[in-house]
Amino acid sequence: MTMRDPNRILAAAKERLDRFLDLLRQAVERESPTYGDKQASDACGRFFQKLFEDLGCTVSVIRQPDCGDQYIAEYGDGPESLFLVGHYDTVFPMGTLKTMPWRIEDGKAHGPGALDMKGGFIQCWQALAILRDLGLPPKRKLRIFFNSDEEAGSPSSRERIMAEARSSMYSLILEPGLKNLGDVKSSRSGRAVYKIIAHGRAAHSGIEPHKAASPILELARLIPALDALNTPALKTTVAPTFLNAGVDNTATIPGEGRLTVDVRCTVAEELERICAAIEGLRPTVPDVRLEIIGGVEKAPLEYTEQNRALFRRADALARELGFALTGHAIGGGSDGNFTAMAGAVTLDGLGLTGEFSHNEKEYVVLEHIPLRVALLARLLQTL
Ligand SMILES: [Zn+2]
Repeated sequence: MTMRDPNRILAAAKERLDRFLDLLRQAVERESPTYGDKQASDACGRFFQKLFEDLGCTVSVIRQPDCGDQYIAEYGDGPESLFLVGHYDTVFPMGTLKTMPWRIEDGKAHGPGALDMKGGFIQCWQALAILRDLGLPPKRKLRIFFNSDEEAGSPSSRERIMAEARSSMYSLILEPGLKNLGDVKSSRSGRAVYKIIAHGRAAHSGIEPHKAASPILELARLIPALDALNTPALKTTVAPTFLNAGVDNTATIPGEGRLTVDVRCTVAEELERICAAIEGLRPTVPDVRLEIIGGVEKAPLEYTEQNRALFRRADALARELGFALTGHAIGGGSDGNFTAMAGAVTLDGLGLTGEFSHNEKEYVVLEHIPLRVALLARLLQTL
């Protein structure tokens, strides 16, 4: 009796776990902070470039002056493409490997960026290698983007990500799931950031305080107004994250004060409502002027009807492999927010499973790896 495709793919992924871990170790041992050591980051990027070229991809390089270079690997053909997005930069500064070395212990693989998210690229590589070796071609042309500044909010890459997403059928994000086998990320909050500068008038606080226009008083009045925008029922959060005015131990009412506000919303209209409210803030202290800089950084990745349909297709493929998917709503953003902003049907968190991203305890669950590889391979084969 011949084995069905899902079983053949899963059997191959199980056989190849050692190879997976060897490649993941090599990727993790090439440290790649977003900024600070372009040479090191480029070495990591070239490692992935070579890996995907050896697989038969055509890889183009997008040079970057500050962060590591970015890459687009293309595989197969067909008129409509599937867009896969990941990043090889990590939040860990150079030298982290000394205190947080690659190691396998108790069924977990540890090391900077193993989970978030070098593992997602190795998973994609292995899914493709298995499909190739079993003679099962992906249904569409694949375009795989290797980002290098995602951890900084993708300033140099977001336009390209959105353009690629616009010209693709689906966008699959190789960011990690959570710690359980079937975890994926079905929605992510959007984010806006505002810097509010209160311009007032400085004066001696003992001799002529009446001549001051106090930015401290102004900002102190603004904070409760901002706090009132929090809407727990909609998971809307509005949080001041920075406050600064004056010089301590001087008898001076300062002339300027600064406040930064971080906004998260799960729905685009809600984000617009909060942004309009912040941009509409008016000073209440006489002679103080408000300068409000900022706006939407990322729109939410919403669980739309189309995204839900994609989730259901992925869930059906997972069930053939013996597990079910669980979609999670996540506060933090990813490049999936940008593909969603571009209007692309998106599923995020298809990478490996584990915990403690951005933390020295970061780990990947080993026993889930073959199943996550097989799920991705089936998505590439059938979407
Ligand atoms: Zn990430």
